Amino acid sequence: MKQFACGNVVPGCDGVVSGETVEDVLAAAAAHAAEAHGMASVPDEVVEAITAGITDA
Ligand SMILES: [Zn+2]
Repeated sequence: MKQFACGNVVPGCDGVVSGETVEDVLAAAAAHAAEAHGMASVPDEVVEAITAGITDA
């Protein structure tokens, strides 16, 4: 499993998403961003930041 702590990109957010693969985590992070942060889409630089922040869980 891999996981990503949203606080790495959005200071103060304690949301954590996880998935089997990096792609799963990115999809979950995009869904979290839409629901929790009102981001209709995730810019490339944010995708890169998320990818860099993904850790093994
Ligand atoms: Zn968040």
